[in-house]
Amino acid sequence: MSIAENLNQIKNTLLPTVDLVAVSKTKPSSFIEEAYAAGQRIFGENRPQEMKSKAEELPKDIEWHMIGHLQSKKTKYIAPFVSLIHSVDKLSLLQEINKRAAQNERVINVLLQVFIAKEESKFGMDEQEVEELLSSEDFKALENICVVGLMGMATNTNDENVVRGEFKDLKILFDSIKNSTIPAHINMEKFTVLSMGMSGDYKIAMEEGSNMIRIGSSIFGSRD
Ligand SMILES: *Cc1c(COP(=O)(O)O)cnc(C)c1O
Repeated sequence: MSIAENLNQIKNTLLPTVDLVAVSKTKPSSFIEEAYAAGQRIFGENRPQEMKSKAEELPKDIEWHMIGHLQSKKTKYIAPFVSLIHSVDKLSLLQEINKRAAQNERVINVLLQVFIAKEESKFGMDEQEVEELLSSEDFKALENICVVGLMGMATNTNDENVVRGEFKDLKILFDSIKNSTIPAHINMEKFTVLSMGMSGDYKIAMEEGSNMIRIGSSIFGSRD
């Protein structure tokens, strides 16, 4: 099947409230052009320099989402144009994004990445770290970032109940922030995004309240 056919097949299964991030990491720009021609405008990358060079050569109305772990020192490559950073996991990174956003005279939208999986080696904050961060004075002082939601990755397992339980936990945390059960220095009108679900688990994620899914291999084929 072609990229356009894959995209259409996935779009047909999406609830109208869900945004699709086409994860094009490691894939050539020609693949992105194919998806773009089929109407896709949001693309996800996980390497800052790769995102930068693709953004330079591809159409300017593409929304670029950083989905992978971001090292502070590489923030500068994407700060001028990135539309959403999904993977913020500490205050020092937020401060660097804030600084680079200010230099570019813009506000950068970010999601906080929450650790929900049972397995090791996934990045993200736990619930308590999220609460501490959002209620801190250091966070309050950042004027060039806007926290618009949360992101999480479930355990890589065939056990649907484990995956569903992890997504449920993230939705509960999202709702607690949204309903101010957890105190947070956030503009609640803008706090709207719950990014969860990939090729293997996005249907479960949607059932559990996701409104942004990140799909790579089901659109572009498997990665090496
Ligand atoms: C690579 C990646 C995806 C896409 O994974 P697929 O299984 O190919 O759909 C989604 N989210 C993050 C954070 C990723 O790193």
